[in-house]
Amino acid sequence: MSAQILDGVTVAAKLNEETAERCRHLTARGVRPGLAAVLVGDNPASRTYVAAKAKTCTRLGLYSEVIPLPTETTTDELLTRIATLNQRADIHGILVQMPLPPQIDTPTVIRAIDPDKDVDGFHPVNVGRLALKQEGFIPCTPAGVLALLEHYDIRLRGRRAVVLGRSTIVGLPLALLLLHRDATVTVCHSRTSDLAAVAHTADILVAAIGRTALVTGEFIRPGAVVVDVGINRLTTPDEVRRYFGDNPSRLAELDKKGYTLIGDVHPRQAADCAGYLTPVPGGVGPLTIAMLMRNTLLAAERACRP
Ligand code: NDP
Repeated sequence: MSAQILDGVTVAAKLNEETAERCRHLTARGVRPGLAAVLVGDNPASRTYVAAKAKTCTRLGLYSEVIPLPTETTTDELLTRIATLNQRADIHGILVQMPLPPQIDTPTVIRAIDPDKDVDGFHPVNVGRLALKQEGFIPCTPAGVLALLEHYDIRLRGRRAVVLGRSTIVGLPLALLLLHRDATVTVCHSRTSDLAAVAHTADILVAAIGRTALVTGEFIRPGAVVVDVGINRLTTPDEVRRYFGDNPSRLAELDKKGYTLIGDVHPRQAADCAGYLTPVPGGVGPLTIAMLMRNTLLAAERACRP
């Protein structure tokens, strides 16, 4: 069997087109959706993520503002910035790029964001709204996974879903979303015994654990839908060959950038037995930014409701 690829790039482009259209409509009514991204410190990965988000905002017609703050910023200083953003009418979405430096009290910072501007969906109020199926903001990666499954008409009702990972950013909200769509959901974590056997029961298997290619062929029931959320780096030719064989484009990428990305799922073994598979890169990743844009648009649309 050779798995059908769930192409996140194409689905994200379609979602982004819709977002841009709705954004034009709202802007014509005098409200341009605006996203503020607060970046504390100089973590290179965080800088790259924030830059990518700002660039997508601009491309889709949203207003974007990046607020860089020094590494030694205190919790109080950050809270003051957030309070100002909460008050600004031109900012509909606020995101604080994670991880924050260790001196900052992250839960307090998340709680300080106005829940109606919390486009990452991390505020306890939005976590509660999601649990209760109320209108709020759904974290972008799980929302993106759902959008991808919906685009490919993958049925969830009555099917067995196994989510590997229970983080508040990915695994837990995704488990809730799948449950709300009438899947029968099992959530696994680092203390789960016989992970492969549990995973093998899944019609829909989601891997969000941050462990390079831990999900091998024995985890996957033939024909299952496999969603690989993980983003890990391979940095040596031996590693690349272990997972991708003599794939020339992967080896060339390693040569050029010093790394190539891989998920939590063994790409070749999964391609052989899954029915559907998200690639890494080009699967869930593009959907995450698309859903951030969508959440910012929703925040602006909701702010103009009578
Ligand atoms: P976390 O580290 O917050 O959570 C990892 C989860 O996996 C935890 O629940 C942990 O269990 C579980 N876990 C870790 N090791 C194992 C193991 N050996 N067996 C079973 N369970 C295990 O990670 P995130 O949820 O933030 O991210 C997960 C992955 O998704 C990462 O690779 C990250 O880079 C990627 N990611 C990708 C995004 C995208 O846009 N594509 C966005 C966000 C994340 P326990 O709770 O017991 O510790």
